[in-house]
Order: sequence, then structure tokens, then C-alpha cells
Amino acid sequence: MPKNEAVVYITRKIPDPGIEILESVADVYVNDCGPQNPPSKTEIIEDVTELEADGLLCMLPDEIDRDVLTASPDLEVVSTLSVGFDHIDLEAANDYGIAVGHTPGVLSETCADLVWALVLATARRIVEGYRFVTDGEWKTWAPEAIVGQDVYGSTLGIIGLGKIGTAVAKRGAGFDIDVCYTARSRKPEREAELEELGVEVTHVSLDELLRRSDLVSVNVPLTDETEGLLGRREFQQMDDDALLVNTSRGEVIQTDALYEALAADEISRVCLDVTDPEPLPPTHRLLEFAPDRLIVTPHIGSSSVPTRNKMAEMAAENIVARFRDEQLPNAVVSPPNPGV
Ligand code: NAP
Repeated sequence: MPKNEAVVYITRKIPDPGIEILESVADVYVNDCGPQNPPSKTEIIEDVTELEADGLLCMLPDEIDRDVLTASPDLEVVSTLSVGFDHIDLEAANDYGIAVGHTPGVLSETCADLVWALVLATARRIVEGYRFVTDGEWKTWAPEAIVGQDVYGSTLGIIGLGKIGTAVAKRGAGFDIDVCYTARSRKPEREAELEELGVEVTHVSLDELLRRSDLVSVNVPLTDETEGLLGRREFQQMDDDALLVNTSRGEVIQTDALYEALAADEISRVCLDVTDPEPLPPTHRLLEFAPDRLIVTPHIGSSSVPTRNKMAEMAAENIVARFRDEQLPNAVVSPPNPGV
């Protein structure tokens, strides 16, 4: 496609490096809705239609269904600023010959850092400690004030030993942890990588993982198989002192079951970077357990400056590749290029 004939619509402001790449090949329109006011599906459809967009750069909260995918007759590529693509109707994209790209790998280390930040903050009651200081309750050193849980020497269960799960497990070497994991297939290469770092690693069933682990990290994608994967039965298998951290997708955990399990003391502490519903309303009953047994962060797993810049570049490069009739560097759906 000749330079600057194409139109790209971005559903909200992304880091500049991504916009600069797109501006070199297309007219770029960024929805100026602001960071906390995402466009509705109707607004996205209206914008894509009006612009007759050739490319769409979207984010997690945008529902990209058949209606969006058919809003412009020229739409040939959708690229999401995320590794997860559960918000895009891939079947419809395939039906309409629209390529879909994402940003895998680049955010794994940043996300793994957050998993450990959450584990340590929860186990060692950092938020409560901070409040203790700012509320003026800290009068002296006390033998039983803000006592937490040890992290070193624990058994860490990783549900989904993919790119992020492996990055989480690797960090465990410094904490002298053992790892057990589930995945639909065994991962001998990842096991070898971890063993080289001195981390003992075992492939087990989900039930076995829940029974064995002091720390459970959820790192599966959201699919039909993983939706609602952890419910009351699963929580009851966990040790009463176990800590659960979810940075995958909120829907992998049954929220009501999690509330009941916390209320029944079947699970000790929980940290969530993703929730169902998302965003979690400040009045949600789950927050009754915060901050002593629950901490929640607002889906910031990949949120570091270098990683978000790189994600913006990768998402833009997917679109540019399609305009040049090339394979997307990071494709989820790759229908044949029009005209090839
Ligand atoms: P990945 O490399 O594709 O890893 C996913 C792992 O899950 C694979 O090992 C896969 O192994 C396993 N898996 C898939 N279905 C499973 C099932 N039914 N039961 C057990 N294991 C299963 O993905 P990733 O890059 O690590 O990312 C994982 C997810 O994290 C993303 O899809 C996204 O939803 C989420 N994420 C969240 C944030 C955040 O900001 N909080 C940031 C990035 C990513 P098998 O195929 O062998 O089962």
C-alpha cells in the first residue's frame, strides 16, 4: 500500500514510539478519550466506520467482535497492545480475512516482577505495615506486630508454565523455592532451564499442585478451558496458609467462590492484578478482606515504561507489516494478504 494512503485508528493514546512507527506509513487517528475513560464499542464502530480504517490498534478493554470487524470495508489488520487476545473474535477475523497481531514475550519479565512484588507485599503485609505507620499506630517495636509469612524455601505452584510462568519460576532461584507446575503438555526445555538455575521443578496435575503449594501463581491464558478454572473445590484443596496470586485474567477465578473461600478461611491470602468484574468496583464485597488478606492492583502486569514502549512498537509493527503485504511479526490470525 503506498505511503500515507492507509488509515489507522488507535482506540486511545499509546506510547509515542508506536505512534511514530505508524505515522511513517499511514494517517493515524488516536481517540483522545483519556486513560480512564475508554471508548464504548459503539464509539469504536462509529470511528472505524467514519475513518474507513485500514488498521485498528486496540487494547484489552475493547471488545473487538464481528460488528467492529465489519465496521470498515477496508479493515485488514487488528493489532492489540497485549499478549492476551481473548477480547478479539478470532473466528470472525479469520472469516473476513483480517490479520490479528499481539505483543507476546516482551512483557514476560515485567509481569514476573509484578508477581513477586505482589507475593512479597502480601506475605509480608507491606500495605498493612504502611497503614500502621501513616495511621500513627506505630509506637514501638513489638514482637507480634504485622507478622507475616516466609516466602523463601516455599513450594511455588505455577498454573501455566508459559513465558510469564517460567519468568516467575526463575526468580524463585533466589528464594530457594521448589516449583511444581501444570500445563496441558510437559515442558522439558523449561524444566531444564529452571534446573540449571538450581530450581527443582515437577510437572503435576492441578489438584496435586494445589495440595502441595505454599504459593500459587496463575499464568494461563483465558480460554474456554481456563474460564472458571479455580472455584470452591480447588480452593478447598489448597493449604489454609497458602497464598494465591492471579496476574492472568480475572475470569480464570470464580470470584464468588473466592469470596466464600476467604470468608471460610480456606485460603489465607490473595493478590489479584486482574479481576472479574474488571475494573473491580471500590464497593465490591471482595474488598472486605483488604488489605490484610487481599491486595488488588489495577491490571498493571506489563506496566513499566520500557515494556509499554516496546509493546507499542510491536503492536505498530504488526500493522505496518500487513500494509507491506508481509507476515505479521507477531501474528495470532494470519489470513493470506489481499492481493498476494
Ligand atoms: P504463554 O507463553 O502462551 O503461556 C501460557 C501457558 O499456559 C502455557 O504454558 C500453556 O501450556 C498453559 N495453558 C494453556 N491452557 C492451559 C490449560 N487449560 N491448563 C493448564 N495450562 C494451560 O502466555 P504468557 O505470555 O505466559 O501469558 C499468559 C497470560 O497472562 C496471557 O494470556 C494473559 O492473559 C496474561 N497476561 C496478563 C498480564 C497482566 O498485565 N496482568 C500481562 C501479560 C499477560 P499448554 O499449552 O501446554 O497447556
